[in-house]
Amino acid sequence: MWQVDRGRLASWTRGPRWPAQERLEARCPMRGKAPAAGHRCGIYAVRTRELAERLLADVRLPAPRPVVVGRVSLWGRVFENTHGWRAQFAYPYELFVLGGNDGTTHALRDAYAVDVLSLS
Ligand SMILES: [Zn+2]
Repeated sequence: MWQVDRGRLASWTRGPRWPAQERLEARCPMRGKAPAAGHRCGIYAVRTRELAERLLADVRLPAPRPVVVGRVSLWGRVFENTHGWRAQFAYPYELFVLGGNDGTTHALRDAYAVDVLSLS
């Protein structure tokens, strides 16, 4: 789940905008390399779209910025739990935009070179 910030994906809760055409690497503020066992660091992904939608339902829509749900590729060091994963590296695989306009969809498609669909 992301928000769109100036044509780029931004992590839902905190953290950086996702770089275009290159992997996002997680960093641990304490240890450097992320994710670390017993920490909360890493790039988070939930297992199912239903789970993402349940989390989204807590968000008041329309959100101030367009919202994106999608699939991601995760690799490197990856911790798995019941609801999903916490990973070292990530890149978007396909994106679904809620809100926004054609400009948002095109900007994301151009930036990340992945399939982007508008659900508005
Ligand atoms: Zn950490």
